[in-house]
Amino acid sequence: MNNYFVILAAGKSKRFNKKIPKQFFKYQNKEIIDHSIEKSLSSKLFKKILIVSNNLKHLKKKKYPKSISIIKGGKERSDSSLKALKYLKRYKPKNVFIHDAARPNFSIKLLKNIAKNLKNNKAVVPIISSKDTIKYKTQNQIFNLNRNNLLLTQTPQAFRFKELYKITNNRKNKVTDEATLFINNDFKIKFIPGEKANNKITYIDDIKTPKTFYGLGFDIHKLVKNKKLYLGGVKIPFHSGLEGHSDGDVILHAIIDSILGAIRKKDIGTYFPNTRQFKNIRSPKMLKPIMINLNKSNFFINNLDINLICQKPRVSKYRDKIIKSVSKLTGINENQINLKGKTVEKLGLIGKEKAIACETIISITKYD
Ligand code: ZN
Repeated sequence: MNNYFVILAAGKSKRFNKKIPKQFFKYQNKEIIDHSIEKSLSSKLFKKILIVSNNLKHLKKKKYPKSISIIKGGKERSDSSLKALKYLKRYKPKNVFIHDAARPNFSIKLLKNIAKNLKNNKAVVPIISSKDTIKYKTQNQIFNLNRNNLLLTQTPQAFRFKELYKITNNRKNKVTDEATLFINNDFKIKFIPGEKANNKITYIDDIKTPKTFYGLGFDIHKLVKNKKLYLGGVKIPFHSGLEGHSDGDVILHAIIDSILGAIRKKDIGTYFPNTRQFKNIRSPKMLKPIMINLNKSNFFINNLDINLICQKPRVSKYRDKIIKSVSKLTGINENQINLKGKTVEKLGLIGKEKAIACETIISITKYD
């Protein structure tokens, strides 16, 4: 196939607010521009890939394969695309794909679909419909536009080289994409479905992804007579209760530590030392301020897994009650909490019903 792929990467990224132009910013482990380069290479649809950029020094350091050429861009996007077409003319291309480096998320499937549609059309442009309601402003009036009639064009856009070259060379006004030129010249365009994920990166916020953290928790308390047993905030009838400065609720203590671990805020002892102030404190009271802080800081708990390690009581008997209580205390949905019971084959202090231990793991995502 006599196809050529042009990547426009000469923009100054004024709205991106970073020192480096956005096309060279790291996104999902590689520079934004490299997503487009790698996908166009692996599609095997192109004889040559041409990068148009004003950062030649940076690009030349990257040692791309021979099928990739790099030329200097122009002042505006339309200047850069004209420069690209003038450069490609010597190869006598049949088709040229024009793509903005700021769209790293298109799929190879989309490239192939464009190529397929080019067989019977001179211009193929992916479009999606608008999610937002848009108004149109003139000098002294604002009009409502019908959302159903609005089409948003994406890149890559593909054209017969000959036609595009002619109208690009003759154009009088600046355009923000090649589809505009085709429409202005009354050429027919085949519109195909674009991809929602193929959005243009304009602001740094467009590529901020939420981060997920994990936290481990562990706790163990001695069982003693004449104390009430609390597990996960539930009072459980038993011959002994857990000894401690507080009510000794190993489940809630392990949960608190796993939350603090995930948000990297030290440990339970830092916030609840063995002082008079916290003597005999109930554990739900310890969990509460931790949860309030967590929710204030835009964290979201994905799931919580609990191992309760004891010879007795039988976890299966209290599982639903404990999960319900933990759900109520943390705000985590019941179906995102799991509780497993582990007996220890009557070994050691836990096996002899002298202690109960608990370990937890939690997954928490931070949204900005
Ligand atoms: Zn404890």
